[in-house]
Amino acid sequence: MDSMDAAPVGNAAGPQDPAPTDFDRQRDLGILARMEGELADVEAALERLEAGTYGLCEACSASIEDTHLEAHPAARFCRVHQDLDPGSGPA
Ligand SMILES: [Zn+2]
Repeated sequence: MDSMDAAPVGNAAGPQDPAPTDFDRQRDLGILARMEGELADVEAALERLEAGTYGLCEACSASIEDTHLEAHPAARFCRVHQDLDPGSGPA
């Protein structure tokens, strides 16, 4: 193979431009995606607050523990069903 140094992947930016690297962009996009996910959770929580179902598990309608709500104000599931919430897992 003789195409090692001619990778046709988005290298158009001049060398004088200290623009964010792809790595920086990936990281920022990841943070943004997480923030958008959290925002959606908060908006959903506010909707449940208006509907009177805030603090109730969406799977079994049980009351979510106060301690869990304090740690995760936008929690949608009780501790039994929190695995169903894609936003509250570790990492
Ligand atoms: Zn539940």
